[in-house]
Amino acid sequence: SWGSFVDKNVYDWSSEEEEADGRARPVQVLVVKDDHTFELDEAALSKILLSEEVRDREVVAISVAGAFRKGKSFLMDFMLRYMYSQASEKWLGDAEEPLTGFSWRGGSERETTGIQIWSEVFLVDKPDGSKVAVLLMDTQGTFDSQSTLRDSATVFALSTMISSMQVYNISQNVQEDDLQHLQLFTEYGRLAMEETFLKPFQSLIFLVRDWSFPYEFPYGQEGGMKFLEKRLKISENQHEELQNVRKHIHSCFTNISCFLMPHPGLKVATNPHFDGRLREIDQEFINNLQVLVPCLLRPKNLDVKEINGSKITCRGLVEYFKAYIKIYQG
Ligand code: GDP
Ligand code: MG
Repeated sequence: SWGSFVDKNVYDWSSEEEEADGRARPVQVLVVKDDHTFELDEAALSKILLSEEVRDREVVAISVAGAFRKGKSFLMDFMLRYMYSQASEKWLGDAEEPLTGFSWRGGSERETTGIQIWSEVFLVDKPDGSKVAVLLMDTQGTFDSQSTLRDSATVFALSTMISSMQVYNISQNVQEDDLQHLQLFTEYGRLAMEETFLKPFQSLIFLVRDWSFPYEFPYGQEGGMKFLEKRLKISENQHEELQNVRKHIHSCFTNISCFLMPHPGLKVATNPHFDGRLREIDQEFINNLQVLVPCLLRPKNLDVKEINGSKITCRGLVEYFKAYIKIYQG
């Protein structure tokens, strides 16, 4: 349970490759190395997804993707709380409880472009009686040069291809270059898939952090949808390039949505000693967290990963992961 999980909240992130004990932790399964080659840790991936309890379960793969230092891991730790509390009313936890899970504190993290997955796959009963396996993935890129942009695009493409829900975490607004990056990485993904598979990607949610125009578009999903509608609108007098980006994004995903998140407050953003406790987070942020996280993870909202119209199991996902990575290595 979450209770026993937080009792042991002192993690040594520097030794994440070591199998210290049985505790759940983030595991780097894909790394982009300095020479821009990709390395898939097949053993680590198999160990997690081919364990007896989960391998034949249909999988729900939730990915949070975006640049470094934009609060992805911080959000994912709340997603973990929700998963560990098994969707209980009180999932958010105690006001004074430090936040643990994925490493999020500024500075403590190596900036590796790649994919981390949570070593524990959660089994969840859906209201329709089915039991699904839920996998959480953290996908990060750098975007600071042409070469790292290409690496990031490939990593994003991969995570989009293997996830059923891609949370695109961006800061402050949906800028034109956020859309261009999205086009680039879905283009990489589509190119790889066209050879073998026809289906587009599943769900994409633009998660805008530090949204500061709530008087124009209110926080949350409804405001987000209205904002996105405006931002993704295609009009005659737009430059062709802008039109194409928009058409492309629309053509890639079955569902596109948007959520506008408020700023979490200065303690979260600037205090180096902040340990994630709720008491120091702005209430407005917490209120929206209480909408966002259940909206992503509520049992009835968990969509099984489908490729070519077929539902995929954990075992199947490992195979696809290996096949997809070959395309980019080739
Ligand atoms: P990641 O690299 O995207 O995983 O980012 P982290 O989750 O590690 O967070 C980086 C820093 O941003 C930490 O100091 C967090 O306390 C802070 N942070 C977390 N969420 C937010 C947010 O929504 N807005 C702002 N401004 N800072 C945040
Ligand atoms: Mg992170």
